[in-house]
Amino acid sequence: MLYIIIGVVILLFLAVAVVGLVRGRGKQGPPKGLTGGGASTDEVQTGVQVPAPRGVEPETPDTGEAAAGVGLLERPEAAAGRLARLRARLAGSSKLGQGLLALLSRGQLDADTWDEIEETLLMSDLGIGPTTELMERLRTEVKVQGTRDPVEIKAILRAELLRLIDPQMDRSLADKRNMVLDVPAVMLIVGVNGTGKTTTTGKLARLLVASDEDVVLGAADTFRAAAAEQLTTWGQRVGVPVVRGPEGGDPASVAFEAVTAGIESESDVVLIDTAGRLHTKVGLMDELGKVKRVIEKQAPVTEVLLVLDATTGQNGLTQARVFGEVVNVTGVVLTKLDGTAKGGIVIAVQRELGVPVKLVGLGEGPDDLAAFEPEVFVDAMLG
Ligand code: GDP
Repeated sequence: MLYIIIGVVILLFLAVAVVGLVRGRGKQGPPKGLTGGGASTDEVQTGVQVPAPRGVEPETPDTGEAAAGVGLLERPEAAAGRLARLRARLAGSSKLGQGLLALLSRGQLDADTWDEIEETLLMSDLGIGPTTELMERLRTEVKVQGTRDPVEIKAILRAELLRLIDPQMDRSLADKRNMVLDVPAVMLIVGVNGTGKTTTTGKLARLLVASDEDVVLGAADTFRAAAAEQLTTWGQRVGVPVVRGPEGGDPASVAFEAVTAGIESESDVVLIDTAGRLHTKVGLMDELGKVKRVIEKQAPVTEVLLVLDATTGQNGLTQARVFGEVVNVTGVVLTKLDGTAKGGIVIAVQRELGVPVKLVGLGEGPDDLAAFEPEVFVDAMLG
């Protein structure tokens, strides 16, 4: 009798252990379809390659590129505090802020000085509307307070710049899984080639990995030679799978497969690097429209991030306008803000599109992308 009881207990123990093991595979286990061969849609037949997910050995480790990355993965810098680390890179913006401070602290605020202030603001790409607004408010405040005290002037300027940047805007990224539909968040990264779009997609993947998110990358910029290669390298460094297609292939097909991979691997977020050809507005609309439509057969697009090069001034604003008319942009990434005195573009582009700057690129290093924080930015400007 005792032996029977011991036997039953051992059997129960084994059963519990087996169930635990199966459950434990959860997100880490190789999901079906990700190790190749599983998916059966038309898009795969067009040559889309779907690699193994992060931390998972491919079934054929001798040929799988992901094998090289496993065990040698980089640890991206934590997301919090990045802008504070990078604030020294805002040297150009600091010059702008300090120039304004110096002008406002002059003994005599005569017409010439106000002209100089206006010129400085316009030179920073703030734009005519916001410049006029800021000038008026500065004039009023300085008059009301009757001060030339640099500390007080600084406080006025800080408050007015912050007002224009609008700290109330929601700058969070829509990067959370949709629990109702049980699908990952999907972000489209759009913008003209050369703005830093692919680099930003790679950097953003790192930023999300640093926050413990499971990311899948889709290299849907199939028009620029080497874009897919570039993104694959970014992905490999942090163990993020990259879905890619043949050069010149159909971007929508790559995007579709990337989302399929994200769903099957139960990822948190899928980032799609799109083609940035600004040939004609209609062409762009067709291209991005198709990518979005195809993605949304499986999961909603939660975020459309427009990448703009901060150094391109009016040109960047024109791009913002065109993309704003073609897709529903939900956030802006301003790249190359390091070393440019064109910080006013932050305000100008928010005005143009009515959407917040969510991220800023401050260098070519892999972790030189930070969440945009209005207070840190303005404080860096004013030194
Ligand atoms: P894409 O054609 O828009 O995909 O552009 P890439 O991602 O290839 O980037 C173009 C160039 O801009 C590369 O040399 C990047 O290193 C550089 N770049 C991207 N972001 C930044 C940034 O924030 N600061 C600086 N200084 N360079 C950047």
